[in-house]
Amino acid sequence: MSVLVVGSVAYDSVTTPAGNRKDALGGSATYFSVSSSYFTPVSVVAVVGEDFRAEDLGLLNSHGVETSGLERSKGKTFRWVGLYGTEDANTRDTLDTELNVFAHFSPTLSPEHRKQPYLFLANIDPELQLRVLDQMHTRPKLVALDTMNFWIEGQENALARVVERVDMLFVDEGEARSLAGETNLVRAVRRIMGLGPSAVIVKRGEHGALLFQGESVFAAPAFPLEDVIDPTGAGDSFAGGFVGYLAATDDLSPDSFRRAAVLGSVMGSFAVEGFSLDRTGSLTEAEIEARFRALTAVTHFTPLAEGETLPWRGSR
Ligand code: AMP
Repeated sequence: MSVLVVGSVAYDSVTTPAGNRKDALGGSATYFSVSSSYFTPVSVVAVVGEDFRAEDLGLLNSHGVETSGLERSKGKTFRWVGLYGTEDANTRDTLDTELNVFAHFSPTLSPEHRKQPYLFLANIDPELQLRVLDQMHTRPKLVALDTMNFWIEGQENALARVVERVDMLFVDEGEARSLAGETNLVRAVRRIMGLGPSAVIVKRGEHGALLFQGESVFAAPAFPLEDVIDPTGAGDSFAGGFVGYLAATDDLSPDSFRRAAVLGSVMGSFAVEGFSLDRTGSLTEAEIEARFRALTAVTHFTPLAEGETLPWRGSR
């Protein structure tokens, strides 16, 4: 099944301990669509400016991403400037956000887009996420949402209205806490689930991700990497692997969600191995599959058999 994504298509300027890049292709919808394109057809709804480069459109098209919903407007493409900590790659500061063409963008979905069965509301103004949701003909089988502090702090009310209407939410730890107004992570997630989503994924960077679904919790590890070049886009690539897997299999069972979380982790791990979409945009099926198998091995252990107990000292 296919996925529709609305989100940002951006030019990012980032500085990490490994170096820096200016005006490199980025954006939540870009990372998501390229990551999910390995598994399932994906259409993108977003806006770019007159400065959007032909080679960047070419990258999306070469991955079979359907771009009829990528509007080109007068003005400049969305810009984001980020700086990553030298001690801890998980911390980053947003130095600047320029909405540019997104400031006046109102998405209009084609009849084909309105009936997509899987919808991903990538990180963007929650007002735009709501407008996309409102235009869907039938309620998609799955609506997933991502956001960030910029919108949690700046558009709290609109965001609350989106959260109520989605099936699953992707957040990092800090976002979960500020969204719920609760410092304990588990309680924060429970509070968010009380608002609507039946599944919440808490992304924890190099520490992996937690999938909360109903009463159950599943931990997907991060793939252990020696060299992290640029963490930008890891979350969106994670979501691309996750939602891409669910859409490709059209299986929304709890087991399928767990596999999806592991594939998300795999796709996030590739994203950080290069600047921009250098790595995410040039993967082979063999590479993805090999890393998925390797990550399975990282988590595998023999569970206690029926009737078997731990080696209690007193019973030896
Ligand atoms: P991630 O590292 O997966 O959380 O996503 C980083 C991407 O989000 C970058 O490529 C940015 O262009 C994009 N981004 C940053 N701030 C915003 C924002 N306020 N709204 C939408 N997209 C953003």
